[in-house]
Amino acid sequence: MYPSRPAEFAYHRPTSVDEAVALLAEVEDSRPLAGGHSLLPAMKLRLSMPAALVDLGRIAGLDGIDDDGGALRIGALARHADVAASPLVQRLCPALAETAAGIGDPQVRNRGTIGGSLAHADPGADYPTVVSALGATVTAVSARGSRDLDADGFFTGVFTTALEPGELLTSVRIPATPASAYAKHPHPASGYAVAGAAAAVRDGAVRLVVGGVTGTPVDVSQAVAALGGRPSADEIAAAAARVPELLDGALGDTYASAEYRRHLGSVLARRALTQAFERR
Ligand code: FAD
Repeated sequence: MYPSRPAEFAYHRPTSVDEAVALLAEVEDSRPLAGGHSLLPAMKLRLSMPAALVDLGRIAGLDGIDDDGGALRIGALARHADVAASPLVQRLCPALAETAAGIGDPQVRNRGTIGGSLAHADPGADYPTVVSALGATVTAVSARGSRDLDADGFFTGVFTTALEPGELLTSVRIPATPASAYAKHPHPASGYAVAGAAAAVRDGAVRLVVGGVTGTPVDVSQAVAALGGRPSADEIAAAAARVPELLDGALGDTYASAEYRRHLGSVLARRALTQAFERR
């Protein structure tokens, strides 16, 4: 029988980033709490047993969605539903708005946050794949100061990122990329990506990233390096067919075998590329 209640924990509710990072530095084994849609289920199953939670929910100004010199600056606490509904996101990065609209169900979209999703780094999560393709930069703040990290290299393994203990992800900056698209094969119960592919065409370069297949998003842009201008459907299909050979270490589980996930990588890459080029 699985436990259905978390182990005991202390609860802190800071009202500023400074206060939050001070708590994370001072309180042993403390963890940030955002939407709680990944952390609380893990705590109820006792897969995660932090001694203290630092609830970010009362920190004002961490949920903004702004134009930052032609790029998007999205606060860590922006909910999936807010990202989906933002006219600015829809205009500058349609792939991101559509991704947010396709996460889970209304309850998940109304509670889950972009910062929580990126920090959690679930291999089946959608945002990591998309922000990697869009060339995003993540800002992390701790008691030691602030630093920017490229999405490339941010996701270091299953549920693991380059964030250091005590670091809070405060925002993500995403260059405007109207010619972008995301396609996923959703798990029928949760909506998590059994596999997903994000394509971005910007400044004459094409980026293609596949998620859900291995433990982290995989940059497979080398498969599409020759695509430019307005490629034909056959050229896109030929490029996408090269994707599976670049997906080393594919994971198999009860939902999908490793071979099936690699195959999905190719199918979804073709769909995402086709839509991204149509938006060019
Ligand atoms: P939390 O659960 O609060 O935190 C998750 C982790 O990130 C914790 O370790 C926490 O300490 C850490 N954390 C949170 N915020 C920060 C921060 N600012 N800085 C540093 N660390 C931080 N996701 C998808 O991508 N696609 C889906 O289709 C999908 N379907 C779902 C269906 C269900 C039924 C559920 C319950 C979840 C689903 N999710 C899906 C996950 C959902 O998007 C979560 O909201 C997300 O993974 C975590 O965001 P959160 O704000 O809830 O974070």
